[in-house]
Amino acid sequence: MKILVLNCGSSSLKYQLIDMDGETVLAKGLVERIGIGGSRLIHETAEKKVFEADIPDHDKAVAMVMEALSSKDHGVIESIDEITAIGHRVVHGGEAFAGSVVIDGAVKKALEDCSALAPLHNPPNLIGIRAAERLMPGKPQVGVFDTAFHQTMPPKAYMYAIPTELYTAHKIRRYGFHGTSHRYVSQAAADFLGKPVESLKIITCHLGNGASICAVDGGKSVDTSMGFTPLEGLAMGTRSGDVDPAVVSFVMEKEGLDVKGVENILNKKSGVLGLSGVSSDFRDIENAAAGGNKNAQLALDVFCYRAAKYVGSYAAAMNGVDAVVFTAGLGENGTLVRETVCGYLGYLGLRIDTEKNKVRGKLADIGTADSTVRPLVVPTNEELVIARDTKELIG
Ligand code: AMP
Repeated sequence: MKILVLNCGSSSLKYQLIDMDGETVLAKGLVERIGIGGSRLIHETAEKKVFEADIPDHDKAVAMVMEALSSKDHGVIESIDEITAIGHRVVHGGEAFAGSVVIDGAVKKALEDCSALAPLHNPPNLIGIRAAERLMPGKPQVGVFDTAFHQTMPPKAYMYAIPTELYTAHKIRRYGFHGTSHRYVSQAAADFLGKPVESLKIITCHLGNGASICAVDGGKSVDTSMGFTPLEGLAMGTRSGDVDPAVVSFVMEKEGLDVKGVENILNKKSGVLGLSGVSSDFRDIENAAAGGNKNAQLALDVFCYRAAKYVGSYAAAMNGVDAVVFTAGLGENGTLVRETVCGYLGYLGLRIDTEKNKVRGKLADIGTADSTVRPLVVPTNEELVIARDTKELIG
């Protein structure tokens, strides 16, 4: 069975074609700059091909992906008929979806209703679903939500201390994101430790350009650092994470900005980019800090300190922790960040082995033999989760 996984952004489309017999990736790629000129498709099989073309909309992007996958020249299937189903990454499922679903009319309506909660993400997800429906009619489609895994959080974790009417009227609450990744790596960590996930308290740190931490108790998300939107929590590449909400109105007044202006600062100009003035990429920041740039060092300090605070608070929330998992671009590769974060956690009994911590992008235990909490590196694989859920749901 072959499953096509699609992840549609406003101007991009990422895809993977996965053969579920053996779970191998047959092809993957990215369509960039949809509708904004200079668009291209980067298609990877054993080799990488780049196709520049006018790609005005997602219909054209999906059509190009189908053509690339079934091309005589660089394709991996004879015909699109070989694709059994399509799995879509969907960012926001609100409170309607606590798991993945087969997409039908009612689901699309519910997704539209959730769009107000994720105006940047859900509309392009829906556009991708409709484009795939038009171009591959009759094929089952499944939606896998970033928020679904966190629907097990108890009200004490997801409610903000603001008037309850704001929750009732507008559904303002913590939703959490990166759920597909937190779910996958917590299960993979339990498998690696050879214990049932139901018996473990795991703190998963998804550290990438966007970053979030999750408390997973017995396989269920009980708290997470992202909130109503993916802006809350850790300092990120360009996002501020936690700030005093009063900063928003104060900045608007002092800088003469409207709501969009201050949102732009908090989403695009803050985080380690804003603090360092160097880059949103941790490799650039680490290099600058090593060269003596004090602001770059401060950005690293703030990032690691806050990450460690979240781990500590989740150990308290779960009354213990068995494993701390690092994943995503920075979590899988950033040895310095892992070492610095773990440096704060000695009081929990967590001890990192600096030699083992040199690992990059591989499943590994990076703790010393006497560490009572296991620090693990677990590469994430959101596309595989989407493909597995799709397979399961279509029976
Ligand atoms: P992601 O959003 O998961 O693709 O992660 C992107 C982040 O991972 C960027 O900030 C990169 O700087 C960071 N990253 C990737 N490789 C490394 C590395 N070898 N050392 C430090 N950071 C890395």
